[in-house]
Amino acid sequence: MRAWAVVENGAPLQEIEVPTPEPRGTEILLEVTHCGVCHSDLHIWEGYYDLGGGKKLSLKDRGVVLPLAMGHEIVGRVVKLGPEVPAGSVSPGDLRIVYPWVGCGACDRCRAEEDNLCITSRALGVFQNGGYATHVVAAHPRHLVDPGTLDPAVAATYACSGITVYSAIRKVMPLRPDEPIVLVGAGGLGLNAVAILRAMGHARIVVVDVSDEKREAAMQAGASHTVDASHDGVTARIIETCGGLVPAVIDFVNGTATARFAFNALQKGGKLIQVGLFGGEMTIPLPPMAMRALTIQGSYVGSPVELRDLVKLAQGGKLAPLPVTRMPQPEANAALMRLRDGKVTGRMVLVAA
Ligand SMILES: [Zn+2]
Ligand SMILES: [Zn+2]
Repeated sequence: MRAWAVVENGAPLQEIEVPTPEPRGTEILLEVTHCGVCHSDLHIWEGYYDLGGGKKLSLKDRGVVLPLAMGHEIVGRVVKLGPEVPAGSVSPGDLRIVYPWVGCGACDRCRAEEDNLCITSRALGVFQNGGYATHVVAAHPRHLVDPGTLDPAVAATYACSGITVYSAIRKVMPLRPDEPIVLVGAGGLGLNAVAILRAMGHARIVVVDVSDEKREAAMQAGASHTVDASHDGVTARIIETCGGLVPAVIDFVNGTATARFAFNALQKGGKLIQVGLFGGEMTIPLPPMAMRALTIQGSYVGSPVELRDLVKLAQGGKLAPLPVTRMPQPEANAALMRLRDGKVTGRMVLVAA
């Protein structure tokens, strides 16, 4: 198979030839038709995550081995089934979204379909070859989701940006549609969250951002209110806008400043869900955590169950599709550079010839 691979961190992706994998056990070989270009691909390409304060998390130390075909927002067509794939679960020719957050497959978390919480990640496009290639291997038929009539370029993005948002929203639900949910950050994930909440029938969606332009975009996407975070007093403005302390904040930035104003806006029993990777630290006053029964919870990507549920929600027709820009698969490097240079609105999706 051909791959557009990271051969050296920070150097242009190279088109290389690698042996096409033979599916073993419950594995399934697919021909990649679509693959989204995610912001985290930039970190994998560079070889580290910046943790702030001069600290870096090296991906090589975490077990990322080069050359690597990145890409974890994959749709492909089934080519070949491993010998232990249950009969009738999937057939050659089927078009499927590929769940990329693969774990060991054997532990309690994996068995409970919380593969994203497995301690032994084998995520596609991170720890093994992903969708910047002509072929990819799915670990099990339960990792394949039928996109049905959805646009496959949009459906591909549900595997990362979609479930990242959906999983965070699930952690604050159930809430009545008129209870405020505060979203911090109106970038790609924040706007996606507005769209998903709307599709779920939620009415009171309050978006906090420093940028006038992004707050305007959030209103256009269906937010009910916005709050300016460009100067001090953000918590007070959130409380004023929401008519009191709030039951739920999802922080798509998750830096020292946003975590602070988000935490301070929580009502009794309130939940702060931390999604962003901006970096920083927070100090938490402990007695109020207990007395006010607060929750701070991290959220990272999502589970196969959440991917299936999100696809079902999208198939209901109420979820506004993300804007996508299609690029030919061999231009993977150019796509990555466009993302690095911030020249992208919506999602870029590589499409096979
Ligand atoms: Zn991603
Ligand atoms: Zn596992």
